[in-house]
Amino acid sequence: MTRFDAEVGVVGVGTMGALTMWQLARRGVSAVGFEQFAPGHDRSGAGGESRLFRTAYLEGSHYVPLLRHSRAEWERLGADTGVHLLRLTGGLMIGSEGSAFLDAVGRSIREHDIEHEVLDIDALRTRYPQHAVRPGDVAYLDHESGYLRPEVAVALAASEAERLGAVVHRRARVAEIRMTDAAVEVHTDERVFRFPRLVVSAGVWTSQLLPGITPLHEVIRIVMTWFPTRTPERFTEDVFPIFVRQSDGFDISGWPSIDGATVKIGLNNGWDRVADPDRLDRTVPDALFDEVREAVRTLVPGVDPEVVRAGVYMDGYTTDHDAFVGPLAWDDRITVLGGFSGHGFKLAPAMGTVAADLVTVGSTDLPIDHLRPSRFTANVTAADRVRFGRRATH
Ligand SMILES: Cc1cc2nc3c(=O)[nH]c(=O)nc-3n(C[C@H](O)[C@H](O)[C@H](O)COP(=O)(O)OP(=O)(O)OC[C@H]3O[C@@H](n4cnc5c(N)ncnc54)[C@H](O)[C@@H]3O)c2cc1C
Repeated sequence: MTRFDAEVGVVGVGTMGALTMWQLARRGVSAVGFEQFAPGHDRSGAGGESRLFRTAYLEGSHYVPLLRHSRAEWERLGADTGVHLLRLTGGLMIGSEGSAFLDAVGRSIREHDIEHEVLDIDALRTRYPQHAVRPGDVAYLDHESGYLRPEVAVALAASEAERLGAVVHRRARVAEIRMTDAAVEVHTDERVFRFPRLVVSAGVWTSQLLPGITPLHEVIRIVMTWFPTRTPERFTEDVFPIFVRQSDGFDISGWPSIDGATVKIGLNNGWDRVADPDRLDRTVPDALFDEVREAVRTLVPGVDPEVVRAGVYMDGYTTDHDAFVGPLAWDDRITVLGGFSGHGFKLAPAMGTVAADLVTVGSTDLPIDHLRPSRFTANVTAADRVRFGRRATH
């Protein structure tokens, strides 16, 4: 008889791992997590002080049920920990009338009856003078949007899971995952842990731990930038909603000021590929600073176009920019959550629910068909499966 260390192991207690552990612990399922740094660190997916929470979803209206589930769960985690984690400031989606961007946002709004307003150029100019409007600009104001505090949210989700009985091993780097007939093994410097089920939520390190995932996954570097303002009262969260803006050839996002002195505004596009996540280059190229400064000067003139802080982070991207969430095709004892492609933070509580559903009852009611890992691995050959460590079928 194999002695298991818990019902579920979780490799990587970052964004998805912490929220998965919280969901498991709330159900009374025993879980042991492994984190190479500590929950709430800012060295990979979850750094940089704030994350957009958008409901009128540019990436597809089929995400809206997941987003509404996430919203309820973020509010619950906030209530359980006494910290107001999700700030619903509203979200301004500004672009050109008839653009693919605003069409996609509008589709989500119509199909899911999202509380919103449509602002024409005059309304935009009057209500949000912080934005320098450009000819042709219009906006949706999505009342179900706002922002989250990523490092705080991850740290609190993990500690709330621990309070409910979960175990988190900090500074515990998993060297290898091995699948044997008896157990899924997690090898650390300390010892070998054994579980009947494993969740792998290792972010940009996923492909190192599960080489079969490699073809789906590339690591992209994303740079965040902060600018000073001389009029901080114009950028507080009650008067300055989060925004995504595609105007004049620029594609940027912004958040209200959190510290009362700076405003975070960043380019939406990832900047370049990372060959090795353990050697992330934190040097920011001048060309990136030039582009974001020009965007700020042109579109948000109440902010001084001088970067006072820059942060470099990374996320795993898939070719279709949808994550892969579900059991591995070649060993369903392992559930993987990865490839969140620059927009996964807001979804983390729903992904935690999904992972907890999959490892406990084998299915979920949440709509995750578009996230099936098998959409990439359907053509994996029998020889590949052996190479990736599939256990013998009985
Ligand atoms: C700069 C930036 C801005 C973004 N903006 C938004 C936004 O506004 N809204 C939004 O919704 N999303 C946004 N995203 C995306 C979102 O933050 C990510 O999709 C999400 O954080 C990824 O979560 P994850 O759990 O996959 O990775 P992570 O949070 O990085 O977690 C993976 C964890 O696994 C650990 N780990 C890895 N390997 C091992 C190992 N061998 N042993 C032990 N531990 C290990 C890592 O240390 C890490 O803690 C943004 C991403 C970035 C980078």
